[in-house]
Order: sequence, then structure tokens, then C-alpha cells
Amino acid sequence: MPRVMIANRLEKCNSVDGDPCTISILGEPASKANSRRFVLIGGKPRFIKSKKALSYSKDFEKQCPVLDNLYEEDLAVAMKIYYKSRRPDLDESLILDLLQGKAYKNDRCVKLRYTEWGLDREYPRTYIVLGALDKIDEVISTLKEIVKKKGIMSLDLVSSGIKLLAGGLSLGQHKRKCPECHHTRSKHKHDKSLSINVGSDGIRYHCHHCETSGGWMYTKDDYVPRPIEIRDSDTGNEVAKNYLRGRGIVDTVIDNHTIQGTYTFNGEVVPAVGFPYRDGSQIVAIKWRSADAKKMYSQENVCQDFFNLENYKEGNNILLVEGEMDALTWLGCDLPENLTVMSIPNGAPAKVKDGKVDAREDTKFQYVWRAKKALDSAGEIILCFDNDEPGVALRDEILRRIGISKAKLIDLDGYKDSSEAYGDKG
Ligand SMILES: [Zn+2]
Repeated sequence: MPRVMIANRLEKCNSVDGDPCTISILGEPASKANSRRFVLIGGKPRFIKSKKALSYSKDFEKQCPVLDNLYEEDLAVAMKIYYKSRRPDLDESLILDLLQGKAYKNDRCVKLRYTEWGLDREYPRTYIVLGALDKIDEVISTLKEIVKKKGIMSLDLVSSGIKLLAGGLSLGQHKRKCPECHHTRSKHKHDKSLSINVGSDGIRYHCHHCETSGGWMYTKDDYVPRPIEIRDSDTGNEVAKNYLRGRGIVDTVIDNHTIQGTYTFNGEVVPAVGFPYRDGSQIVAIKWRSADAKKMYSQENVCQDFFNLENYKEGNNILLVEGEMDALTWLGCDLPENLTVMSIPNGAPAKVKDGKVDAREDTKFQYVWRAKKALDSAGEIILCFDNDEPGVALRDEILRRIGISKAKLIDLDGYKDSSEAYGDKG
């Protein structure tokens, strides 16, 4: 399975060069009542930070960016603090204290505070928005926006060990030894203290022993595949070309949407058809299929988006088919200009049980999420999948993800797939 491509969203959440500026910090701040404790130092009474306040301060230090120009003018500050439980009082004083030297010179310049309480048992955190006092409305609305998006998560703290661990996991909850602390644990060497939660939008983790926690969201920008160069000599293989013609694909489609070359399957070089996956004009991945009845498949780089997505124009209707061959068949038809034909990169789910996709295959549908912008802006989305069990399961899964409202289904009228229906009926 291709490793989940991961991203550091911190920069996008911490926008510190704007006004208002936003900062997000992971962890549960100590409330005033328990943030200081009374001790005697050299016989004299002193208040020092409690252990909880100290450890939060350390975490805060690591996560909080320092503004190039510290605020000195009168400020409005809005926050939402998510606590682990209902017990702690809503109290932003420690955070205001810690922002000194990071966002402003002195917390005396904070003239207006707006604080919301929130509950997140797994990922206590705080969103902070700061702005000039006369921008209070904007400061609060920015906070509400961040809260709505939920996008967050501290990232500077994510060690490469954790990224590596989480990279290949399937959707759901996982337990692993914590790369941050397990080497320090002589008694419980085998304790899998790190829970990793792989969701459809991102990954979160938390160690019950060392309290390391964080996460990140998937983004497309994060994975920059090495572009694949195709020279003239790499394409135009006659066997491959004739194979496509034999399947009823017209020459213009063959030239524009395929590479006719050779590929090495199991050590043997054979004529093969390459389906280029492009980002703009650049080929970022190729799916290869042997040009024979053996139907061998392989990939160069990871095909992780809809095939032909690069030709989608905002507002177009989309015809979604199962495989690249189906897409090529449709592309050769006399289609309306505002219709983009796309196929899914990894075929129908192999594991179907009672008509449902195996949960472990759920990560396979990331291409839907990655194409969200296109799918959201599309007029109609027409689904035309194979008339077998995996095809129907695929259709239902896609429908579940894009929403049923603008989807249309094409009935293949008893034919197994688009190619077959086309071959018979044209
Ligand atoms: Zn740990």
C-alpha cells in the first residue's frame, strides 16, 4: 500500500505574519488554581509554577512561533481552549503569560479578552487569535473560522519516528511502541503506549506514557513526486498501439492519453500501455498494463488521483468510470465539451463482504478527498461502474463520499463494463 502522504499543516494554522495572527498550541493548560504552588525557598515564601504548568510551558515554548514584530499596541485576544475533561476551570492566564516575548512584549497590552471553553478528551489544545484592539470583530470571527475548520495540530513535535510509524497504517486506531519514550522504559519494554488514529482527513497520535501528542492533515502539496520524462522513443510501440486499437480506442485518444511502450513485468520486458497521471502538464505517475491477455499491472510512482483529473475544468460535469480503459473508451465518444471523463486510480475494491467495502481498504478512497475541490465545484457527477459486486460496492462507497445529491447513475444495461457495452452497441 502506498504510504500515506503527510503534511505539516502548522504553517497554515499559525499564520503569524498577518493581523489578526493565529497560533495553535497542543496540550492542556493548567488553570490558575493549580498553575502555581507555594514553596519556601531559603526560608522565604515563593510561588513557583506547578509541575503541570511547567510541563505545559515547555510544550508551549516548543510550539509557539515568535512574531517578527512583537505587538506593543493595545490588543484583543480570542481563544478557544479545549480541555481533556470538564474539571478544569476556563482560564487563559497561563497562556497570556506565556505569550509574552512570543507575540507581545508585555501582557498589559491585552485590553480585551474573549475565551471559549471546549472539550476534547484526546487532543486538548488552544487556538489563539491576536489582533489590534479595533479589530476585535475580525479577531473573534477568525477564531470561529479556525474552530469550524478544526484543522490544526502541532507539527514541530512530530518526530520522524512517529511519521514513519504512521505512514503505512490503514484507517482506524493502532497501538505502537512510542519512539519518543520506549527506550527509557526498562520495566515495560513492550508497552505499546502510542495510539495512532488514522482518519480520512489526517493522523493523530498520543502516547499515554510520555504524553507526546500531535497529528497532521493530509495535503496534496506535501508529496512532490519526481516527474517522469517521456521521450518520443519511449512511445509509439506498434504492438501496444494495436492492442489499444483492438479494444476500440480511437487514435487521437491513444495519442493524447496513453504511452505505447514496453515495461518490465517479473523481469520480462513486454509491450505495454502506459496510462499517464498528470499534474498539470507534468506526468507524475504512470500505470502500466501489459498489452496482452495476461493483464499484468504495475505503477511507476504512485497513481493517487483520478485518471484525467488534470483536464477537469471548474464547473464541468464529471463522468466517473472504473478503469483507464473505460475512460479511454468514453473519451473517444462524441461527448459534450463540459463533460470530463475520469477513472479511479486503483480499481474496484478487491475485498467486498456483504456488498460492503472492507474497512481496511478505506484508505484507498483518498483520491476522492484529494479531488474534493473538483468534485465540489462540478455540476453533475455521473457514475458508471462495472455491473459486478466490486463495481456496485465501489459505486456505493463513492456515493457515500461525494454525497448523493448531484450524483447520477448510468445503467450499463446488463453489460459487464463500458468497453463491452461500447463494443456491442457503440
Ligand atoms: Zn511516549
